[in-house]
Amino acid sequence: MAQASREERKKKVIEVLNQARAMELQAIYQYMNQHYNLDSMDYGELAKNIKLIAIDEMRHAESFAERIKELGGEPTSEMAGRVEKGQPVEKIYPSDSKAEEDAIEAYNQFLRVCMDNGDSITAKLFETIIDEEQKHLNYFDNVNDHLERLGPAYLAKIAGTSASTGPSTKGFVIGGGE
Ligand code: FE
Ligand code: FE
Repeated sequence: MAQASREERKKKVIEVLNQARAMELQAIYQYMNQHYNLDSMDYGELAKNIKLIAIDEMRHAESFAERIKELGGEPTSEMAGRVEKGQPVEKIYPSDSKAEEDAIEAYNQFLRVCMDNGDSITAKLFETIIDEEQKHLNYFDNVNDHLERLGPAYLAKIAGTSASTGPSTKGFVIGGGE
């Protein structure tokens, strides 16, 4: 089989970086929407953590864009899908867990595309971000678990807690969410 040209290989990596960026952009809008909803439902602590996770996704979208620029591509501004508005709290956590699982699965595939095309730097970026998505998934699963086991009792405990992130705007993984 003929070796693909360097330009072709770069193009494939840029393509998966842009697919990943589109997923991040959707996640940012989705999580911001949930953050405002949870805040108005007065579930402060839940709102705070989703806000911090949205900030992580912004960092991911930026990291992907920076790498796309480095490779000579144009970062997309399209979202991968539609944002669901006004979800009840029981819908938010299963759907966010699924979004994180989908991201982990997709990024693992993208990582392989990077390796197949000789780009270990981008592969490493995917590896780092997969680790962070795993932390988001663990958090969403954890909340889901509480909601399933305790339901209203858990929510009653959360009601009225503070939505403040304090001075930290570093996000969930680096800033220390939960
Ligand atoms: Fe992300
Ligand atoms: Fe995530």
